[in-house]
Amino acid sequence: MRIDIMTLFPEMCERVLDESIIGRARRNGIISVECHNIRDYTADKHRHVDDMPYGGGQGMLMKPEPIEACFNAISAQCSSRPFLIYMSPKGKVFNQNIARQLLGMENICLLCGHYEGIDQRVIDSMVDMELSVGDYVLTGGEMPALIVTDAVCRMVPGVLAENVCFEEESHYAGLLEHQQYTRPPVWNGMSVPEELLSGHHERIAQWKRLNALEQTAKYRPDLLDDAALSPSEILFLRQKQLI
Ligand code: SAM
Repeated sequence: MRIDIMTLFPEMCERVLDESIIGRARRNGIISVECHNIRDYTADKHRHVDDMPYGGGQGMLMKPEPIEACFNAISAQCSSRPFLIYMSPKGKVFNQNIARQLLGMENICLLCGHYEGIDQRVIDSMVDMELSVGDYVLTGGEMPALIVTDAVCRMVPGVLAENVCFEEESHYAGLLEHQQYTRPPVWNGMSVPEELLSGHHERIAQWKRLNALEQTAKYRPDLLDDAALSPSEILFLRQKQLI
């Protein structure tokens, strides 16, 4: 899959995308993530990317022409028109399900706003989806775009060692992940649950499942509404007085 990020601060994105698991996947050619400087698509001598909002108000707005020119140049490099997502606090709140939907797409383009945001006509005529990373306002769309890129790319086959790495994690199957422990078996008087030390695969799997249900019931009971629970699992949560 290919992800293109349109931004006024490509170096900021590159710094993050060069590191760790995503950086390695890019270098190995498993994923393609390209950052584009919207300022490179300005036509005026001063390379203006923003202007004052009509009707007054605080701050500057990003102009439509450079965004359009940048997107057209990206589209020309892709086999199909990229699905254009504007990172915006007004958008649908991003989650694992949306990440999985995006994973199925060949080309995604993430548009990062800055200042007061972008001209509404870009949203109306070009943008396919607006995505928010939560109900708060950041200075720019770069960190939100990096969040979306990371969440999607780590599910591309080959990016993590095995698919099970993300399939067992929080949210993938609608629950939070079970608690985890590593060596030593006793630390500061606290022991690792004996089931995990038993070497008995079924007991371990059973402990992980029940612990995941317990974590979910404690921290995100809303997620249990859509969870498929067996009668014995419901009983387990009732006995713990978690439902
Ligand atoms: N004036 C806008 C408003 O009130 O909705 C906020 C603009 S914000 C200061 C600048 C840019 O940061 C936005 O255009 C958007 O790209 C990005 N941004 C800020 N908060 C965000 C969030 N929660 N999710 C996604 N993008 C966000």
